[in-house]
Amino acid sequence: MAERLGFIGLGIMGYPMAAHLLEHHPVTVYNRSVEKAKQLAAKGAQLAYSPRQVAEASEIIFVMVSDDHALKSVMEGGDGVISAIGPDQIIVDHSTVSVSLTEILGATVAAKGARWCDAPVTGGDVGAKNATLTIMVGADPEIYRRIEPYLTLMGKLVLHVGPTGKGQALKVVSNLVSAMNLMAAAEGIRLGLEAGLSLDALEAVMTHGSAQSFEVTKIVDRVRRQDFNPGFSVANRLKDLDLALALADNLGFSAPLGAAAQSLFAAHKALGFQSEDESSYVLRWPEFHD
Ligand code: NAP
Repeated sequence: MAERLGFIGLGIMGYPMAAHLLEHHPVTVYNRSVEKAKQLAAKGAQLAYSPRQVAEASEIIFVMVSDDHALKSVMEGGDGVISAIGPDQIIVDHSTVSVSLTEILGATVAAKGARWCDAPVTGGDVGAKNATLTIMVGADPEIYRRIEPYLTLMGKLVLHVGPTGKGQALKVVSNLVSAMNLMAAAEGIRLGLEAGLSLDALEAVMTHGSAQSFEVTKIVDRVRRQDFNPGFSVANRLKDLDLALALADNLGFSAPLGAAAQSLFAAHKALGFQSEDESSYVLRWPEFHD
């Protein structure tokens, strides 16, 4: 029998992900700014006015919020999910958050008989809209089997990578690499433009040769369209670098390239660009980084 689903956090990623679930199942939705939840309610979702109401109405609760602070806000307190969670319920957290908070919340819900599953995603806003995300899951095997059919409605590649916490660890490592790809693409593309090369020529070679990466393709497109609208915000990019450096620090692992990316990106955020797309690091370069 189909289970009752809930979804908390309807931002750039969460809204289209919840919409994909809604195409196949009844879904109860909550968002801090109620307008976004009302838009999905107009398409058939059940509207909740607190995370607790989602927990009361759902067996499986999907979450997609910004960071550790946001996740604690929707989980804790009298209106939080944990206040109403009980045996057999599952929380599937798609947000990118710290391994340490994941382990704490996992233990807290386990004490109430419920289960935590970290399932961060990669593939960007386009992947969320097209249901082509890669989803990396940290969970017990029987919990993974129960949620997998729902995850395949939002993602093209769904992978069980280990017990609770390992999904977040993998995501943080993956984003460390993509952040460094971003910094490399930014520096190379700006140098190319300074050297009088056309964006077309840079694109033709760099999206096919050994310099190719997701970030090169994305940034060339953004520079061409001069588009600052967030697909992945500067704030979230820096948050993920902070998570990676914290994980490295906890393990006594030295990550000098990540540390350089972190300080350059922190300086960019401090200029006031936190809500712009991460590509504003390149687009704003002539004004602020020369
Ligand atoms: P977003 O558009 O900024 O959405 C953030 C969501 O979190 C919104 O629903 C927001 O509610 C909610 N939120 C923030 N602070 C909150 C708080 N204190 N209490 C309750 N709710 C709060 O961000 P996004 O791009 O969807 O990213 C969501 C997560 O996915 C992040 O962890 C990000 O790192 C990860 N991610 C993003 C991408 C991407 O390309 N965008 C790709 C992979 C992973 P409001 O609407 O009320 O602000």
